[in-house]
Amino acid sequence: TVSTHYRGRFAPSPTGPLHFGSLVSALASYLDAKQHHGTWIIRIEDVDGTRCKPLYSEQILDTLNSYQLFSDENLRIQSQHSDIYEQHLLILKQQQTVFPCNCTRQSLSQQLGNHPSICKSTPDKPHSWRLKASSTIYQCQDRIQGKLVFTDDLKNSPVLKRKDGFFSYQLAVVVDDHLQNITHLVRGADLIDTTAQQLYLYDLFDWTPPSVCHIPLITNPAGDKISKQNHAKPIQNGHLATLLRALHYLKIDLTTPTSIAEALSLAIDAWNPDKLKNIQQLPLEAEDRHF
Ligand code: GLU
Repeated sequence: TVSTHYRGRFAPSPTGPLHFGSLVSALASYLDAKQHHGTWIIRIEDVDGTRCKPLYSEQILDTLNSYQLFSDENLRIQSQHSDIYEQHLLILKQQQTVFPCNCTRQSLSQQLGNHPSICKSTPDKPHSWRLKASSTIYQCQDRIQGKLVFTDDLKNSPVLKRKDGFFSYQLAVVVDDHLQNITHLVRGADLIDTTAQQLYLYDLFDWTPPSVCHIPLITNPAGDKISKQNHAKPIQNGHLATLLRALHYLKIDLTTPTSIAEALSLAIDAWNPDKLKNIQQLPLEAEDRHF
């Protein structure tokens, strides 16, 4: 029997400490789960062994805990589950929906970075595994963004397992969301573009995808997403004022709470994703520029 109990998650990649934008994403997924009386899980997406560090996982978890965002179940740490991703890659190999590829960045640069999908690969040389291109047009109904139609997203044969042996985010996220029975994704709009490939994988595995909800991105004065890549600063731990500022970007303005616990419980009632509809970006306000 399929459970209809709400299960949501926050799935940070530990490539740096938690920054203000990721606190806002974490809160959105938490508030949505709690408003639905659901289960909320933290998952550490550290499949990229070249960029992720255990120190960052610890820092992220300390920060989440300092804001009383506790996982309802044991953490899932993706780097401990390579065998499971391998088993699922094997299913795709048997279906012949993936192919080995020896292309290098250099050979692909001649194709403007696009994969030709017809590379002559020799599996005995170092190779990645790529998903075969598909002309299926996937669509879904996003609770904030409305109907999403992906017309051109599956032409480029995304890598599922890299030459260096690390699995990609795409494969790991789909396998884990399915195995953890995640029913609702609430995450930043920067991940909208990954959704088509994820829907494609759900289709190949014959699984039901979760419902999706992408929250608008917080941007810096130059209009870019605030991210670790553009040096968003780590946030202070357990700081009520920071929490209230983060909630403000989710259109929740609380004036009275005197503690983090009280702010969270008021925010669970106040959360309304409809208020984030038709918003392209959330520019970081002057008083928050220090984030
Ligand atoms: N691990 C991904 C990231 O930090 C997020 C995965 C997701 O929410 O689907 O960008």
